[in-house]
This record gives sequence, structure tokens and C-alpha cells, in this order.
Amino acid sequence: MIRDCAVCGERYTAQNSRSTYCSDRCRKRNQRSGATTVTSLEPKPGPLVTVTARHLSLANALDTPAGQLALLLAWAMESPYESGSGVAALSKELTRVMQIIEGEQVTRDPLDELQARRVRNGRCGLASAVASSRQKLNEYPTTSGDPEGNAGF
Ligand SMILES: [Zn+2]
Repeated sequence: MIRDCAVCGERYTAQNSRSTYCSDRCRKRNQRSGATTVTSLEPKPGPLVTVTARHLSLANALDTPAGQLALLLAWAMESPYESGSGVAALSKELTRVMQIIEGEQVTRDPLDELQARRVRNGRCGLASAVASSRQKLNEYPTTSGDPEGNAGF
């Protein structure tokens, strides 16, 4: 009977009905690496894919098109066949997609409303810090002719 080898996937003629490997070599290989040989032949996720997946699952975005796109980009970036410039373009795209996902998360999830407010407050804090530093600059104007001291801005 004709079968597909459980390890290398090669089509072979089985000697008996319980045979699952084309050769002794494949049988031994399978014993060494356990029963998950077929899946272990697939590329393993690297650190970037792992981190991206964790991030997406925390953001509840793993099952969204954007989430899947981000994972795909991470996979592609870790591919040994990707050139340096290809990785640079992919990383830009991945960053953009992750920003979109995080942006959606802020507006979508009511639990994150507090966090979003904190971010907005943080921005207000930054704005007031800029305003106060401008005031300090006004105390020491760099141009004598400008009473507002805003020439530099
Ligand atoms: Zn085989």
C-alpha cells in the first residue's frame, strides 16, 4: 500500500498496515524528537513573534485582521530569507499596525478609558511644563527688543 511518511512526508510503499515511516532513519528521527515531528518541521516562532503574539493577546487583538497582519509581519521579519532593507520596511509596517491596534484598544475598551485619560493628562502635564519653561524663558529674554520674549518660538 502507498502511504505518506509521518516524518518526511515522502510517499512510500508500506510493508505492513501499521507502518508510518518510509525508512528506519525517519522512524528513529521521530522517536528522538517525539510525536510532534510533523509540526516541529515548521519554523518555530522567534522572540519577535512570541512578544508580538503576547502583546496582541493582551490587547484582545489576536483575532482581528490587524492582529493577524502584525503576526504575519513579525513572522516575515524573522524569516532568514528577508534582506536587511526588507526587515526595515517590515518593522516600519509592524510598528504602524501595532500603533493602530493600540489606538483602537484605547477607544474600544471602556476599561482602558482610565488609562487613556491618564495619557491625556500626561500630555496636559507636558503642555503645562512647556508653558512654565516658556515663562522662565520670558524672565530672561534673549532679544531685548521683544517684550514678550517669544522670538525663539
Ligand atoms: Zn520518511
